[in-house]
Amino acid sequence: MLIVPEKLIADLVSAEDAFAAVEATFAAMAREEAYNFPVVREALGEGRQYGFKSGLDRAGGMLGVKAGGYFPGNAGKGMPNHQSSVYLFDPETGRPTAMVGGNLLTALRTAAASAISIDRLARRDAKVLGMVGAGHQAAFQLRAAARVRRFEKVIAWNLHPEMLPKLGEVAAELGLPFEAVPLERMVEADVIVTITSSPAASLMAAHVAPGTHLACMGTDTRGKQEVEPALLARARVFTDEVAQSVTIGEAQHAVAAGLIAAADITPIGAVVAGLAEGRQSEAQITLFDGTGVGLQDLAVAGAAVRRAEEFGLAIAVEV
Ligand code: NAD
Repeated sequence: MLIVPEKLIADLVSAEDAFAAVEATFAAMAREEAYNFPVVREALGEGRQYGFKSGLDRAGGMLGVKAGGYFPGNAGKGMPNHQSSVYLFDPETGRPTAMVGGNLLTALRTAAASAISIDRLARRDAKVLGMVGAGHQAAFQLRAAARVRRFEKVIAWNLHPEMLPKLGEVAAELGLPFEAVPLERMVEADVIVTITSSPAASLMAAHVAPGTHLACMGTDTRGKQEVEPALLARARVFTDEVAQSVTIGEAQHAVAAGLIAAADITPIGAVVAGLAEGRQSEAQITLFDGTGVGLQDLAVAGAAVRRAEEFGLAIAVEV
């Protein structure tokens, strides 16, 4: 099998590579050529979480699992709190084929998902990008969003305002004016990305103007919530995978409240594959519930392995 260490990923997989790999995977899911296995996620105590996201892509010849979790004590030991790695297997024989560092890949595949939703669903003339959240992942989401629309300004809110200047530096790198605003001013945004670990809604339906596209990316577990459920009732809702959206995604709350049903949610892959309509009018609110699926991880890990082999950087071991 081949090993591709975490430290090589930055030189092997770009945001563009991740976008292409994840978009192809979403389309394969919609064509039922690829599917995710049920997610396993366990609380280990003291805030630690660990889980496994896995799947099979018949068309892409990928079988594998991402093992990963959140370890809040790591920062104090000089390590990232999020730790993950991806394991790939030959779908014909079950032989392990690769082990790939998964930390940067997770950030890239998550940013790619929201960018794909913006590319497919936001109004073409979107000018103002609203960011709700300013943690580790927010910088990746901002960079990826800026690749798919000609934004002229970034407005941002974060529960912990001291984190905003760092996100402002990313906007400055991209040549975009940046302003910290109260949540009420998100009504000025054409596109809003939410990327927080919030346990209760911050963004309310009244904070969102007609015609806005939202990419809600923070809610990936039961009990997390970023937006008011009434917003999903007002919007056309899309997701990476409906089964995850209604159980661990942002839609879990609107579904539990009886405001929307699973049948109201469109997989983004169906839009990519030309099997479903995207935005239907300039005034429609579109909302992408990005829950994070295992196939996204396999797609970017596969891209990393191919590039590592091409550059002669993959480490071969016998298992
Ligand atoms: P982080 O710890 O670096 O940042 C957390 C963010 O949430 C910060 O902006 C913080 O201010 C904010 N926050 C914390 N408590 C809050 C509260 N009570 N109300 C509102 N905001 C609050 O984490 P990160 O790596 O940036 O990840 C952000 C979220 O995205 C996490 O919930 C993570 O699990 C999730 N995530 C989802 C995917 C996916 O595929 N959907 C992938 C990666 C991460």
